[in-house]
Amino acid sequence: MSGLRVDLDLIQKYNVPGPRYTSYPPATRFAESFTPADAAAELEAARAARPPLSLYFHIPFCETLCWFCGCTTVITLNHQQGDTYVECLEREMRQARPHLATDAAAVQLHWGGGSPTFLNPDQIRTLGHAIRRHFAFAPDLEASVEVDPRRLSEDHVAALREAGFNRASLGVQDFDPEVQVAVHRLQPRDLTAQAIRWLRDAGFTSLNLDLIYGLPGQTVDSFARTLDAVLELRPDRLAVFSYAHVPWIKPSQKIFEKRMALPSPETKLQILKLVVERLTRDAGYTYIGMDHFALPTDELAVAQQHRTLQRNFQGYSTRGGTQICAFGMSAISQTDAAYWQNLKALPEYYAAVNAGHLPVARGCRVHRDDQIRRATIMEVMCNLGLDYAALSRRFHIPFQEYFARELAGLDDLESDGLLTRSEAGMTITDLGRLLVRNIAMRFDAYLPATQERRFSRTI
Ligand code: SF4
Repeated sequence: MSGLRVDLDLIQKYNVPGPRYTSYPPATRFAESFTPADAAAELEAARAARPPLSLYFHIPFCETLCWFCGCTTVITLNHQQGDTYVECLEREMRQARPHLATDAAAVQLHWGGGSPTFLNPDQIRTLGHAIRRHFAFAPDLEASVEVDPRRLSEDHVAALREAGFNRASLGVQDFDPEVQVAVHRLQPRDLTAQAIRWLRDAGFTSLNLDLIYGLPGQTVDSFARTLDAVLELRPDRLAVFSYAHVPWIKPSQKIFEKRMALPSPETKLQILKLVVERLTRDAGYTYIGMDHFALPTDELAVAQQHRTLQRNFQGYSTRGGTQICAFGMSAISQTDAAYWQNLKALPEYYAAVNAGHLPVARGCRVHRDDQIRRATIMEVMCNLGLDYAALSRRFHIPFQEYFARELAGLDDLESDGLLTRSEAGMTITDLGRLLVRNIAMRFDAYLPATQERRFSRTI
């Protein structure tokens, strides 16, 4: 791919609310009728297949709130809370472990948040040891951690390496000092550069930077300067998210409406055009899909070339067919046949774990039609096309008959140049990469009932 051209009229046409497809069915379908006993039964049912494990740990704490934040967080300056939380995570692992195959090994480990680096180096080491006591790691473990450069020391980096991490994702959002003031996240560029140096020197092999466009105070020019500064750091991956303004879900975002205007939808689209064209044409990054870019040598880009890319709650991943065992407040677990989410408030989460229960709040079963649609949507989102024969074999169905209505309904997307179709399959064009969510939505059986307001726009 030699750089993408962004057609803003087309983007505008398809800019409708839609799921991000980190799961299917989407998390909006999870219900409280799914109980801890259901989760235990699903773990037992999955056990015989001995799927490789993907371990996720949610560390919810942050010292200060970034006003744009959409994550599930606990804001506190009390770092002793980390001790209680790490103890509870170990207890939760102990409760889940008997439900998993004894020889199941982890191929993927991820700490997200909140801010995992809110934990001090001793707490990181304690949690790292606890995880190794309960789980074996595969030799090619992909272990990634979200890092807040503002809360990082060289000892944190050493502790993270000891815990097995070899990849890191750093929150940046924007380097412009005025934007940083507007969003309540002060993070001088030198601090980020220093964090990157420490991580690289310690042997981290793939570094991702997160940026957000659509924040108050941003202009096309200001974001161009941020991109220049980011590219000097040459991260292996970049995630450039569209700011989702959902104050009815995240009340802290209301502050933007009082203090500083958000960029207009037109400016946001111009920034998106700048990002995609700059990164793919001038800077040599591959556009993976959704918000993600990677150097062609990065394993994410290589996996996409080999059609082995996957997508889950942590975003794009190179490890497929895993069972996600998620620990901590609000964390989401996944087996082939179900999803469930832990309790979203710290006191309730602690109470459930201390009472010896799996701390499950809600979930949903994934029925056979869901499984077929999930695989189809993931092929669209990750591998940018559908191979009808391969999907027919995988699910023992005549794929084209099964999806006859959906496939016949792709005419508008094809005539707009987003995809091409043949007898053998469907291929998403370079133009269509920007709109993979819209293409995936055509295979979503739940969408007509759930589309409004609960989802952010596709761009
Ligand atoms: S550090 Fe990350 S998780 Fe914490 S408030 Fe800021 S954006 Fe949200």
